[in-house]
Amino acid sequence: MELNSLYQEVILDHYKRPHHKGLVPGDIQVHHINPSCGDEVTLSLKIVGDKVAEITWDGVGCSISQASVSIMSDLLINKKIAEAEKILDSFVSMMQSKGADQGDEIILEDGVALAGVSKYPARIKCALLGWMAYKDAVTQVGEK
Ligand code: ZN
Repeated sequence: MELNSLYQEVILDHYKRPHHKGLVPGDIQVHHINPSCGDEVTLSLKIVGDKVAEITWDGVGCSISQASVSIMSDLLINKKIAEAEKILDSFVSMMQSKGADQGDEIILEDGVALAGVSKYPARIKCALLGWMAYKDAVTQVGEK
């Protein structure tokens, strides 16, 4: 897989020094797996009012899956739920663009480093794993 080397560095940096890793009990905990690659993420979410107060996680798997959760937690913590949803939508549409959408750096920050992954269908699930775990968690909290 060929990714821009600067982007590769961003991904490796999050992989080696993940942010918000280490589960802290929140309102809900979900466990998602990506069997095609062997990636696993457990995500704990705490909502206060209409805000994402805390996301912590634990996981194993490839650098793309683990870096993506780290990047996501940086982006979504302290955002309003509605804002977090916009960021998630923006990331998902970048991932579904087959390389056409390079991502909006103002919205996705380090997340644009994963834009190149959208050209590799087998790896898209790796990049989306943590984001889908968040989506599941926030939906379940809303249903409580
Ligand atoms: Zn993977």
